[in-house]
Amino acid sequence: MEDEIKITEVALRDGLQNEKKFIETESKFKFLKLLEEAGFNHIEITSFVRKDKIPALADAEEFSKKLNFNDDKSYSALTPNSIGLEKAIELGYKEIAIFGAASETFSKKNINATIQESIEKFKEVSIKAKQNSIKIRAYISTIIHCPYEGKIDSEKVIFLIEEFLNQGAYEISLGETIGLATSFEVEELLSKILKKFPAKLFAGHFHDTYSFALGNVSKSLEMGIRSFDSSAGGLGGCPYANGASGNLATEDLVFFLESSGYKTNIDLEKLILASKFIEEKLSRNLISKTYLAKK
Ligand code: MG
Repeated sequence: MEDEIKITEVALRDGLQNEKKFIETESKFKFLKLLEEAGFNHIEITSFVRKDKIPALADAEEFSKKLNFNDDKSYSALTPNSIGLEKAIELGYKEIAIFGAASETFSKKNINATIQESIEKFKEVSIKAKQNSIKIRAYISTIIHCPYEGKIDSEKVIFLIEEFLNQGAYEISLGETIGLATSFEVEELLSKILKKFPAKLFAGHFHDTYSFALGNVSKSLEMGIRSFDSSAGGLGGCPYANGASGNLATEDLVFFLESSGYKTNIDLEKLILASKFIEEKLSRNLISKTYLAKK
């Protein structure tokens, strides 16, 4: 149905990896169960990277062992290389995510590879994933602004989209990493992308650093996008702006979508319970506006 929106809940990975406090595996699992009770089907679980690189997700393996991969949920894990992919397959994942950046400098700083080098690495991962019937989701970060390079040329985004689609990605999550893009800029980029590719291939991944995220969701909806990423409670700060919020909060996204007549299949009250639980574990206050108004 056209008015049904897919939400990929990213708090456990994208959110927690940007939080200072390590959350115990048991608590991560309880948080996951609360999110599932709220209705989420697409949940990003963790990332298989070197433990010292992202200490918050150092228990990726232990946490994944607790999951039941046979139920109807789509659990995904980030796998930057073949070693990560093999781990994910061994643990039972049926979906993985790869992540590139449209900005050369961001790519080097974030994944320590040029864009071209990252493409080569992902090719290996994608080939192996396909051989094992694993679904591939691809992230492109810094689609409009880069904290180092400023405004990004849309051709670089389109180049990566083509590359990831050729590698077999079923969905591409377009990441507006620093939350600086306005809906006018989103419209400009999406109109170029959607001239070449159908909207159903894309998800919007907006950051709410300056409260622009819902405007960008609204513009994306207008242009046919029906899939968005968000993080419960707005978990995960923004490493590029001090003290600012990062990921768009799922509460804000769900409340906005439902108020606009779209269907999310998410129970907002139960989602708030999940955020309350993790807020206590984090010992910091979450700042999602909807969460604060309704908790
Ligand atoms: Mg994010």
